[in-house]
Amino acid sequence: MPDAVELIRAKRDGQTLAAADIRWLIDAYTRGVVADEQMSAMAMAVFFRGLGPGELRTWTDAMVTSGQRLDLGSVSAPTVDKHSTGGVGDKVSLILAPLVASCGAAVPQLSGRGLGHTGGTLDKLEAIPGWRASLSAREFVELLTTVGCVICAAGEDLAPADRKLYALRDVTGTVESIPLIASSIMSKKIAERTRALVLDVKVGRGAFMRERGAARELAQTMVRLGTESGVRTTALLTAMDCPLGRAVGNAVEVEESVAVLRGDGPGDLVEVTLALAREMLALAGIDADPAAALADGRALTKYREMIAGQGGDPDASLPPARHIKEVPAEESGWLRDLDALAVGTAAWRLGAGRARKEDPVSAAAGVICLAKPGERVERGQPVLELRADDEARFGRAIEVLDGAIVIGTEPPTAGSAVLERIG
Ligand code: URA
Repeated sequence: MPDAVELIRAKRDGQTLAAADIRWLIDAYTRGVVADEQMSAMAMAVFFRGLGPGELRTWTDAMVTSGQRLDLGSVSAPTVDKHSTGGVGDKVSLILAPLVASCGAAVPQLSGRGLGHTGGTLDKLEAIPGWRASLSAREFVELLTTVGCVICAAGEDLAPADRKLYALRDVTGTVESIPLIASSIMSKKIAERTRALVLDVKVGRGAFMRERGAARELAQTMVRLGTESGVRTTALLTAMDCPLGRAVGNAVEVEESVAVLRGDGPGDLVEVTLALAREMLALAGIDADPAAALADGRALTKYREMIAGQGGDPDASLPPARHIKEVPAEESGWLRDLDALAVGTAAWRLGAGRARKEDPVSAAAGVICLAKPGERVERGQPVLELRADDEARFGRAIEVLDGAIVIGTEPPTAGSAVLERIG
């Protein structure tokens, strides 16, 4: 039987781990035989030493086989999913799933909750009265067949090794590792058994990957893992220096998603959503124009079905914030920059995010970017609107926004939010 300490030492010293040892380690960790402190040390060793392509394949497969894979065999439409590596104001899933489903694909989206400054799709949708994130495997497949899209929480037995390891990495400073992120994300997608997958790899200040080179490497690693496992996978690198769209929070992001579905959304959000939709439809082999499905209301109808299918009331008003505070422009000029990390952290401090997994989130808290880079502002004009249930939260949110709003005499050069395609 392998010895955990020997394996940690081997990885620490830069050796390649044998496939059988990796399988034993992941299985023993899932069963509680390898302790959290040992796995923490292993994660740190991997953080510094990395995993070779063969090691990464085995590591990912061991995480997949630590639990049950879904059975989507009864779904006749081509299945295609999207995964984002996480950003600020990233509500794309809420729009994209019904949009792509309205074009004929089946979209099984197992999503997560926010942790830290990046929001979580389930927290956003839970702002809608009655909406349920937890579905049984039967309900999941039934909704996928009848409605065509489902966004819900992954069941306990989907890649349980990742569930444990991700929580451990979160508190041991080992999240930002390409092999650990790639195996974490791809093990869940492979276990989900989607036939195709588009990855939205965020790059910039508000993302895990701040450098384009690192983001490209992460995207290439995940595309390779997916392809080798029979999941047709491509990736887009998209900008995450400024918040995506204007709303950052939970209820406010639902409202902005509905605005996009009604044909009235911010340009950067619409651009990223349509680019991902085109990738998904191409991988699914469906020749359809997602812009038309957005314009003629088909995607909005599908969204309403998706929300109602999971117990939500698409017509219900969302919880309003009890307190609002505006952050004004300190001078007149062009808004040149709006720091996504600062805005995301402010929304988090206002109550939209959680510090620990078990913390509750506020549905109403968040930040509205009343102005976006490229727009003119006058001194005293509100640039941000902060929303909170508790007035005492404003102080620390405003603190983190110091220096986040950059105003200059020239407008910034406009660039596309979609930076690169990998696949
Ligand atoms: N999302 C995941 O699911 N896993 C990671 O490691 C990072 C982001």
